[in-house]
Amino acid sequence: MRVNRVVGRFAPSPSGRMHLGNLWSCLLAWLAARSASGGMVLRLEDLDPDRCRPEYCDQVMRDLEWLGLDWDGQPVYQSRRTERYKQAFQRLEQQGVIYPCFCTRAERLAASAPHRSDGTAIYDGRCARLSQWERVELSKTRRPAWRVRVPEQEIAFTDLLQGGFREVLARDCGDFILRRSDGVYAYQLAVVVDDADMGVTQVVRGSDLLSSTPRQMWLQDRLSLPHPAYGHLPLLLARDGRRLAKRDRDRELGQLQREYTARSLVGLLACAANLIDRPEPITPRELLPLFSWEKLPREDITI
Ligand code: GLU
Repeated sequence: MRVNRVVGRFAPSPSGRMHLGNLWSCLLAWLAARSASGGMVLRLEDLDPDRCRPEYCDQVMRDLEWLGLDWDGQPVYQSRRTERYKQAFQRLEQQGVIYPCFCTRAERLAASAPHRSDGTAIYDGRCARLSQWERVELSKTRRPAWRVRVPEQEIAFTDLLQGGFREVLARDCGDFILRRSDGVYAYQLAVVVDDADMGVTQVVRGSDLLSSTPRQMWLQDRLSLPHPAYGHLPLLLARDGRRLAKRDRDRELGQLQREYTARSLVGLLACAANLIDRPEPITPRELLPLFSWEKLPREDITI
């Protein structure tokens, strides 16, 4: 029997310098793939022209290399793949599940009652009920975003770390945006198209993206794409309990490099991942025989 080869991926957003949380995800994604003799691909999620800059892409690659993490082949830039997202979008359009949404941000907030598990508002679907005439009228003054209409369908999967997870899309998530009013395709669509095109079989990322997974799996079904395996890592938290973000300047790689060598930083992360007992300097390659899913923590970690 031929066992399919694992292919993992790095998917950083080049909107600034990477911080400790990004390094954590990258290191563990790399270990999970390479320890299974798998492939590793790099995708730069630079779709948002307001936030991403080409120089940040170069910096991300230099930082991954500095840490001792490698990837196969050429990096993939989302900003160069609009044509592929368009094809997927059109396929969904043909299936009749996409509609224009004219709501402004304020209207969207007013039009949403409960909240998703990730804290964002659930849209009540009001623009799905507009008549053709109303759509024509509204488009005279506003450019719509495009939403996908989700069903009352439960999506369930077993996460490699978090165990069973399920969501009824209509109830827990609501109709979500696939293309913004400025024309930029949404992360949820791009990630699904890219993971499939890049042959990714294993997605390892932060548990802040756990609740995106049912949406992505549903889109994979609609586009006849395979489901990768998912492993959602516990988050690294700042000492005040918030998850680390780009604004935590002291945890940004530029700052960390003043205090740590690559090996000592990898040791710190490996110790947080329960792969070594003490935060001693070590390289990613030396960690390969020590990696196992069972050892990894399930709870968020204050670092
Ligand atoms: N680009 C996302 C981030 O940097 C990760 C997306 C993903 O792993 O699916 O948070």
